[in-house]
Amino acid sequence: MSFCGECGKKFNLLEKKYKTRDLRSLCSNCYEKYCLESKIEEERKELEKLQMVGVTGFITRLGDFNPMVRRGAAYGLGKLNDRRAVEPLIEALKDKDNYVVINAAKSLGNIGDIRALNVLRKLSKRGNIHYKIREEAEQAVKKLKQVKFQGMATIVDADIKDMSWQNFEDKICELLDAVPRDSRTADMGLDGVTKEGIPIQIKQSEKIGRPVVDKFCHAVRRYFSNSDRKKRGIIVAFSFTNGAYEEIERARREDNLDINLVTVEELLIK
Ligand SMILES: [Zn+2]
Repeated sequence: MSFCGECGKKFNLLEKKYKTRDLRSLCSNCYEKYCLESKIEEERKELEKLQMVGVTGFITRLGDFNPMVRRGAAYGLGKLNDRRAVEPLIEALKDKDNYVVINAAKSLGNIGDIRALNVLRKLSKRGNIHYKIREEAEQAVKKLKQVKFQGMATIVDADIKDMSWQNFEDKICELLDAVPRDSRTADMGLDGVTKEGIPIQIKQSEKIGRPVVDKFCHAVRRYFSNSDRKKRGIIVAFSFTNGAYEEIERARREDNLDINLVTVEELLIK
């Protein structure tokens, strides 16, 4: 006579018993639960170990001379799921070790930050690489597209042109991964700054023309006035006039300003 080590149910003669790692016999129901829970437990333990190294620890390890260490770092960063790892992982896609690249691609898919979308897409289309890299990049692109579509869905749901100005601005900042304006940038007539430090201007209207671009160029110059970084800026709107495009060409040529005009549509589909 024997009983399930978990729920205490009596086994009937033909019933199959399942052994746990600590050698208890369980009924099939309890064993199923046990497997699920031990998997969760293992994952929790793994995460705990990874957290001890930490995001910055793994980012440092991405530069290790030993490919095994770099592979582990690229893997660990995906599990920690922290956006600080996005740029270093994008860099790791250039690693000469195939398995570092494979892990980095997978991790970028897990983290789900759309900054990685374009570079992964390019990677997934390259011919002269290990097929597993291509496969992993394709998977990651699928995941990131989904993230993008979700972002799009909320914006389309809200009917973008009828959105309140504030919601529109927040949404665009989110899509650009930018910090919305604070008192300092607002004073300069800017609507936000991307994580890379590029000032942006957001217009919820069509046919943005030369005067807006001209004003923005002044704001960008002011923004970078105490810095020797390249002067760049982004204007987002529904559409731009030819005059606007001519103006940014002129600014590029004569003032060494790199201004990008981005339509909302491009931002959503890119
Ligand atoms: Zn049981």
